[in-house]
Amino acid sequence: MDKLNVLRTYFGHSNFRVGQSELIDNILLGRDVLGIMPTGAGKSLCYQVPALILDGLTLVVSPLISLMKDQVNALAQSGVKAAYINSSLSAKEYFTVLQNASNNQYKILYVAPERLDSKDFLEFALTAEIKLVTVDEAHCVSQWGQDFRPSYLKIVDFIQQLPERPIVSAFTATATTEVKKDIIKMLQLAKPYTITTGFDRENLSFTVLKPQDKFKQLLQFVRENKDKSGIIYCSTRKVVEQVCDSLQAQGFLVTRYHAGLDDYERQKNQEAFLYDRSTIMVATNAFGMGIDKSNVSFVIHYNMPKDLESYYQEAGRAGRDGESAECILLYSGQDVRLNQFLIENSQEVNEDLTEAERELLKEKDRQRLKEITFYCTTSKCLREYLLRYFGEKPPNYCGNCSNCNTQFQTVDITIEAQKIVSCVYRIKERNRSYGKTLVAEVLYGSKNKRIRSLGLDTLSTHGIMADTSITNIRTMIDFLVENDYLEQTNDQFPVLKLSQRSQKIIRDKPTLTMKLPKETPTASIKKEKVVLNDNVDDHLFTRLKELRNKFATAARVPAYIVFTDASLRDMCRKMPQTREEFLTVSGVGAIKADRYGDAFTALIREEGNPR
Ligand code: ADP
Ligand code: MG
Repeated sequence: MDKLNVLRTYFGHSNFRVGQSELIDNILLGRDVLGIMPTGAGKSLCYQVPALILDGLTLVVSPLISLMKDQVNALAQSGVKAAYINSSLSAKEYFTVLQNASNNQYKILYVAPERLDSKDFLEFALTAEIKLVTVDEAHCVSQWGQDFRPSYLKIVDFIQQLPERPIVSAFTATATTEVKKDIIKMLQLAKPYTITTGFDRENLSFTVLKPQDKFKQLLQFVRENKDKSGIIYCSTRKVVEQVCDSLQAQGFLVTRYHAGLDDYERQKNQEAFLYDRSTIMVATNAFGMGIDKSNVSFVIHYNMPKDLESYYQEAGRAGRDGESAECILLYSGQDVRLNQFLIENSQEVNEDLTEAERELLKEKDRQRLKEITFYCTTSKCLREYLLRYFGEKPPNYCGNCSNCNTQFQTVDITIEAQKIVSCVYRIKERNRSYGKTLVAEVLYGSKNKRIRSLGLDTLSTHGIMADTSITNIRTMIDFLVENDYLEQTNDQFPVLKLSQRSQKIIRDKPTLTMKLPKETPTASIKKEKVVLNDNVDDHLFTRLKELRNKFATAARVPAYIVFTDASLRDMCRKMPQTREEFLTVSGVGAIKADRYGDAFTALIREEGNPR
């Protein structure tokens, strides 16, 4: 079978997506490949299709148990013989899988990296016909990345022991140049064919909010999105517990996940979410790598994460099925301070590093934290900011982020900039430096206790911006910092300082403009949505969902493994009545058509007739 046939027969998709064809072709030509594609782009198919075409076995190294189980379930549903080996198997199950694998029962075998150097597994591997080794989430091999896993270093030793070197393919969503170079080096990829597809996820909308009361904001959102499935990420276990309890008290179907729970409960909660028994998952970042639940409609960050890599990866778990989905970050200054604290007090696990290397890593962390803080405070297009960070050159307006959608007006802040810089200058004359809020209060002319006790009400710049709101003054300060006209220190209590460019403001008086919100920033987050889900018959959609759930329950798999929401929507659109027509539905391949075709077309016929 050629690759297109495999795609259609097993996976039920009609065409390859960007990048998939090229990667598959190169693997089939025997060349190593490195695929850098955003979450949800369809990396799995890039090795699953060749696995079905090549003789012999494809070994997939993957970091998370949940991911393997999910993928193997999904493959089984599509009629592909696959299995996994990880610590969740009993000794008996483990040897059964090895036995079956030796008897060529599988085309694809997922394996946890920790297993690669175990004796039994090596024994098996030395005699098996391993044609392709795939490293999923390949950035885990890089110490410069944000998810380094020492066990990933075993992969290369393992490959070297094999009698014949297999083709090696590596995939990740993390794209910085350093990590990319590191993957090639650490996995010893041989002149890999490398592809980086665009990082944009059109169907995701991005929003940053700075609410006074985060929980109130959250509650408003989940109330407005009642039946939708979503993830709420929190920075600590404690916050997870609080948010989860509070939502539960309000009657929502929520569950939680963090490293403080025992394995059993983590597993149970994760499944509740995957199987839609709980619609909302409240979790720390321990949750999610490798979760490919396709119908996640929103990802809310209750706290700002440590860097944009983590943010984009976590937010990217929304809308994998291509339907429109929302990514919302609830920002507060406290989040920045917590992250700073974590960086400065992190217990470096890797003892092989020298003091200097450790300091370098810390410095990179600080830099990354600064970049995500700018993301939260910028008034420019959020998508542009994200994509630029990942090395692209996007347009400066996307129309689908909170900044593009809020009414902004371009304001000339030439004079304001001079006032702000002068104020920092006057403070410096007194050999002092203060944080953003205090400086804004001075400019506004506040006479609170702190200002008076520090004598700041006697500064000549006190009150010179009395006609601008403190919020807007702060936004202007952010803008000046972002454009290097002022500097903000990186420590636990960041303060404003003059930068190299500060005197330019006073001396050259350059014209400066920036975008400021027309209304107060407390405006509701409701905004126009990009229409991606065209109107499908709600009634039919609901009936199809019910039918899907029946099958899913019987097979004990999550509903989306039987069919994704996107497939059901496509059925509503196409109203297939025969097997042939059913096969044209996105996500329906030969196996699924055989298995479910009759039931679904019967239901559609029944619903299609005038009631
Ligand atoms: P990634 O690993 O890149 O995050 P996945 O491999 O999990 O993404 O795929 C994400 C979703 O995209 C899955 O639901 C998958 O079925 C779907 N998908 C992948 N390739 C195609 C394609 N060519 N056409 C339609 N859907 C696809
Ligand atoms: Mg993946």
